Amino acid sequence: MQNEELWQSVLGQVQFAVSKANFATWFRNTKIVSSENGEVVISVPNAFSKEWLSNKYNSLILKILRTSDNNIRLINFTVDSPALQQKQNKPQKIKEDPSDQLQFQEFKVNQETNLNPSYLFDNFVVGSFNELAHAATWATSESPGTVYNPLFIYGGVGLGKTHLLQAAGNRAISLFPEKKITYIAAERFISKIVEAIRNQEIESLKKKFSQVDILIIDDVQFFAGKDKTQEEFFHIYNNLYQNGKQIILSSDRPPSAIPAITERLRSRFEGGMIADIGTPDFETRLAILKSKCEQKNITLANDVLDYIANNIQKNIRELEGSLNRLLVYQKINQKMPDIEQTKKLLQGLTSSQRKSTSPKRILQVVANFYDLKQDDLLTLTRRKEIVRPRQIAMYLLRTELNESFPSIGRKFQGKDHTTAMYACTKISQRIEEDNALSIDVNLIKQRIYSEPENS
Ligand code: ADP
Ligand code: MG
Repeated sequence: MQNEELWQSVLGQVQFAVSKANFATWFRNTKIVSSENGEVVISVPNAFSKEWLSNKYNSLILKILRTSDNNIRLINFTVDSPALQQKQNKPQKIKEDPSDQLQFQEFKVNQETNLNPSYLFDNFVVGSFNELAHAATWATSESPGTVYNPLFIYGGVGLGKTHLLQAAGNRAISLFPEKKITYIAAERFISKIVEAIRNQEIESLKKKFSQVDILIIDDVQFFAGKDKTQEEFFHIYNNLYQNGKQIILSSDRPPSAIPAITERLRSRFEGGMIADIGTPDFETRLAILKSKCEQKNITLANDVLDYIANNIQKNIRELEGSLNRLLVYQKINQKMPDIEQTKKLLQGLTSSQRKSTSPKRILQVVANFYDLKQDDLLTLTRRKEIVRPRQIAMYLLRTELNESFPSIGRKFQGKDHTTAMYACTKISQRIEEDNALSIDVNLIKQRIYSEPENS
């Protein structure tokens, strides 16, 4: 594979492992400059990027590279001096692929509102599964602070909560340019509160939030058990509410099912409009796929579209993920995959058509993936680099083979079932929160079900 194609395919997958903003910040203007004897050299625009990429993304990039070429062992980052870059960029402009530019344009997050302008009502497909949530967010963006306050949207992972919340924010900006709008993920909100308390700046932080006209907080289930955050948020909330300011919240479950939140906060959450997002039916999944194809400017055969819509049912992000896999294939092979190739490419993503596997295979692939020996996985060490892979192995034994917890425990030097149970809960939680982990697990699954490795 050519360096350029290889890097495009890596970027295609990195997009799913990191936030869009991070992708734009750290992966723009990067490329592979050479790939020889298992060493890949990646050029980056400045020293800061170099440090950041090598500290935070080295292993992710390496893992993805190795799915294309198992011989790759090492990555080196090199700084491309700006002068040099300018020289190179100018002539390149002419032959730059317009789709690449488009890709990057999508990721510009508005510094002031924190909103990503690519999440719009325009590119949001409505079906019976989400029509109430859609209608409510639409109405709220039109008349903030008056109709539904607070607006509380809930639904499972990858079903469009973030998209809807951001679309509401973006639409409100265009309708009311004078209003101050803030979008923030609950985890970020929590860390801001914690930091402010530590620096004794909580009053000024609260003041800042009380000046917002529309406050959008995504994934408030993370407030569970965060007492200090809940308390400060309660005050911010009341202040905004009393002043007729709009509050929009999302969660992966209804307020009644969020554990460890105070009663007064729960009743606030329940006091406005609650709308849920269900799972899309087949027709809607097909419609979503078609609309994404249009946006990405790709044409797929009907049987391919049907196959994806039939096999990926519970998560719109995965629908998109499968399209991206096909897109990478197209970039490399200069043609769209047919149905048989599609089935191969989507192995591990689709729920049916799963091949069988064995405990031995799972342990082998996990060990291999993390460059460990199989025996390392089975020993009782607490070394950090082993604990996580071991938990992943336990998790996969459970999810892929339905093994009982006691039986999983026994495989790991007779640990009891609680250890196995803890590992499985831990990993399934972390997968929701940590994209890098989620892509790891997906890559591992892909390998488990693909050709046996020689090592
Ligand atoms: P959640 O926040 O519920 O986990 P997201 O809003 O991040 O889910 O959605 C996951 C992906 O699916 C995003 O890329 C989003 O644009 C896309 N998506 C979700 N719902 C729809 C929809 N109804 N129409 C088009 N794209 C959608
Ligand atoms: Mg979300």
